[in-house]
Amino acid sequence: MPTYIVLLGPPGSGKGTQAKLIAKQFGLPQISTGDLFRALQTQDTDFARKVRKIMDEGGLVPDADTIEMVKARLAEPDCKKGAMLDGFPRTVVQAQALDKLLADTFKSSVGLVPVFHVSREEIIRRILKRAADEGRADDTPEVAEKRYEVYRANTEPLIEYYTAKGLVVTLDASRTIDEVAAQLMPLVEKKLSKA
Ligand code: AMP
Repeated sequence: MPTYIVLLGPPGSGKGTQAKLIAKQFGLPQISTGDLFRALQTQDTDFARKVRKIMDEGGLVPDADTIEMVKARLAEPDCKKGAMLDGFPRTVVQAQALDKLLADTFKSSVGLVPVFHVSREEIIRRILKRAADEGRADDTPEVAEKRYEVYRANTEPLIEYYTAKGLVVTLDASRTIDEVAAQLMPLVEKKLSKA
């Protein structure tokens, strides 16, 4: 049965960094909806323009569009053994759609939900540092604040959603990359060995 891991936490909490480490170590692909939407930006279509506007403002792309994109991505051959979802789901509607997709199409379910905890101040600091380092258009101070508020309002309720399913493990993500990885890797390894 394929293994699906949902990395949950605010933007800038280190989900992407850990997802890359896990992908390298265990060969479980990182599916980042943010990266998929950014890749779309080379296209000159109405949809690409709509997505860019939403991203630049720090809002959320509509659930239906996001779900459709993840559905297509999870059907690709490299996801045969499962995937690590980074930045998806971000709403309860997306989480429910994911549950249905995994059950109906892959006869599976979400197996683990590491939740990355970092203070608001540290998040804003990290997002702005990333803006300077990577030149991301959606990383201005105003947009950083907005993205954090959107997380609090729409995505944080997912902690409750997955806690009720007994899937949550909490990580103190204010620690170094290596410290977080040292806690996270064995959990992932254990989950994969049981699959
Ligand atoms: P990220 O790189 O994960 O921080 O995502 C960058 C931006 O892409 C977000 O601020 C949203 O505008 C959009 N986005 C990424 N994932 C989702 C999602 N699951 N649902 C809606 N919008 C998303």
